[in-house]
Amino acid sequence: MTLVVGQTKVAGVKIIRHIAEMQATATALKRAGRRLALVPTMGALHAGHATLIRRARACDAATVVSIYVNPTQFGPQEDFNRYPRDIEADAALCAGESVDIIFAPLDAEMYAGNAASTWVEETALAKRLEGERRPGHFRGVCTVVAKLFNIVQPDIAAFGQKDFQQLAVITRMVRDLGYPIEILPVPIVREADDLALSSRNRYLNPTERAQATILWQALSAAQKLFATGEHRAAPLQASLLRTLQLVPAIRLDYAEIVSAATLEPVTDVQTGAVALLAVYLGQTRLIDNAIF
Ligand code: AMP
Repeated sequence: MTLVVGQTKVAGVKIIRHIAEMQATATALKRAGRRLALVPTMGALHAGHATLIRRARACDAATVVSIYVNPTQFGPQEDFNRYPRDIEADAALCAGESVDIIFAPLDAEMYAGNAASTWVEETALAKRLEGERRPGHFRGVCTVVAKLFNIVQPDIAAFGQKDFQQLAVITRMVRDLGYPIEILPVPIVREADDLALSSRNRYLNPTERAQATILWQALSAAQKLFATGEHRAAPLQASLLRTLQLVPAIRLDYAEIVSAATLEPVTDVQTGAVALLAVYLGQTRLIDNAIF
């Protein structure tokens, strides 16, 4: 269902479409002494997003969920056009989580003339992994999140560990640019069979959906090996690859073990290091990770 501009409520939740109105509302709420918590999303909301919303609400703040499929973080061959959009279902989920405001800005206001001429770019943590495979991705993410921070003026913003590198990059951007915002990291929410929830899981056909559980199996096998005392990265990475190879349909993009602080590969794996996976199943690219 498409959203009619001018509509002020969907499924009972206040929906704001204009930047000026969102800024004015945020300013008024803050003058009234309210703290604001922002949950940035691209919509197609699921139980992972609901957990972010609950964490944000627990901060005793007015909760704003932004829903915006940000064109600048998609590469030319990526799924921007077919990314799932369903504002009715999203608003129903937000209503169930007692969200105060949905901010669903218009492309014409977010990117006047369909482009950005001012960019925000983190250049250290964004370099490798997703940044290397998806050139311009984190520049798009940082730019849109900086815009959202300036528009919504949150005190708190929740981000999922599902996108581990994104969380690291945003945390760094907040520090570097001096945003007075507390970043709330939220652990990965998984399906009953441990597949990490993702809006992109709906691209998977039933066979691929069953095969996708291999990501968590690979991560948990490596974690178990670590727990037995194996702290060398090479055998832990070999274990990741061995498990992934059990599903020949999987095309590996990367499987790395990195420092959570620098996102650079480690040879000696300490507690707190992170294993990061990106694979293709058919046309669908899936990512997952686990902290040792
Ligand atoms: P997205 O709508 O996919 O851009 O995600 C919006 C936010 O929800 C990001 O901070 C994601 O990391 C987070 N998120 C998405 N899926 C999950 C999940 N399964 N568990 C925790 N957070 C998630």
